[in-house]
Amino acid sequence: MNQVLVLNSGSSSIKYQLLDMADRRRLAVGIVERIGESGGSAPDHAAGMRTVLSELEGELDRSALAAVGHRVVHGGDRFRGPTRIDDEVCAAIKELIPLAPLHNPANLTLIEAAREAFPDTPQVAVFDTAFHQTLPAPAYTYAVPAEWRDDLGVRRYGFHGTSHQYVSRRAAELLGRRPEEVNMIVLHLGNGASACAVRGGKSVDTSMGMTPLEGLIMGTRSGDLDPAISAYIARRTGRGAEETDLTLNKSSGLLALGGSNDMRDIVAAAEKGDENARLALDAYCYRARKYIGAYLAALGRIDAVVFTAGVGENSAEVRAGVVAGLDHLGIAISPKRNAAKSKEARYISPYWAETAVLVVPTDEEIEIADQALALIG
Ligand code: ADP
Repeated sequence: MNQVLVLNSGSSSIKYQLLDMADRRRLAVGIVERIGESGGSAPDHAAGMRTVLSELEGELDRSALAAVGHRVVHGGDRFRGPTRIDDEVCAAIKELIPLAPLHNPANLTLIEAAREAFPDTPQVAVFDTAFHQTLPAPAYTYAVPAEWRDDLGVRRYGFHGTSHQYVSRRAAELLGRRPEEVNMIVLHLGNGASACAVRGGKSVDTSMGMTPLEGLIMGTRSGDLDPAISAYIARRTGRGAEETDLTLNKSSGLLALGGSNDMRDIVAAAEKGDENARLALDAYCYRARKYIGAYLAALGRIDAVVFTAGVGENSAEVRAGVVAGLDHLGIAISPKRNAAKSKEARYISPYWAETAVLVVPTDEEIEIADQALALIG
């Protein structure tokens, strides 16, 4: 019993990995895309699950399958860790749909389909929010009326928790220290992006909020802005809250500033002298740098700044831009180490720097599989 199937469903996709946890090897990796779209291969997530099963034919050994691990986006303040899925847990994930109207329904449909496909295999939910349930009240509280906070669940939850948890533990290993001994700031810079302040292995603040919109500038999301802007846009243009929400999530960020949501395009265009792309890159790096400052204040002292995810792992330009000018705080990178291409967890700070700057490739699937196995024992 050493196989784990990890399922990660977006609103219109299912990513899957079949892992052999005896030697931590990937037996199969795939994605079913454009679910529910015309011309897509599957009309809904249940059909998508059937596609996954047919693609796994030959690799999947049912008698060796120890668990199915599901990434679930929103666990509210109810789920603080990996959870064995039963009817009650499904009902709770359903109750949380108002907080994640696109993601939780997709996650739930896939869970139901997987429970049907593997009725005798333990299914485990791993929540994107769970790692951040250790945030102290001053960090998760928004200064809004009690009715919003108490009855409507308005607070910071944070996301990318599985990645921040995995990366912060790997970073501690790289430093040769126990996670309980180290403070660090993790910058998960992918399509979505978030910063996390980690004290002694626990998340104490994070930049995404009640939804994944808050915080850093992302591929298509604005990140932080004045909350009065929504009402202003409504008054000026007549656009409603839903449309503005969609604009801020899907048509903002790097895409709005620099014309592409892909950081490779932005860096290339900026280097050719495109002023919009230059502004997009500079604003992106400046926002991330501000969060380093904020989390340095939150943590008091830090041992490391850690870059991860597509942009953080691959873009030397972004890493250099983010930490630019922080030498006086002991945070610096070696241009040579930063430019070296590698898929390994590594130092990019110079030997003399007080604070380690690290690149640690994230692996949410292996973390989900590890957590699922640890839970079922
Ligand atoms: P997701 O959040 O969807 O998991 P990833 O973590 O894979 O995304 O990050 C995807 C992003 O990584 C892409 O938008 C792309 O711009 C960026 N990226 C990948 N490789 C590079 C690179 N060499 N330079 C800059 N950005 C990169």
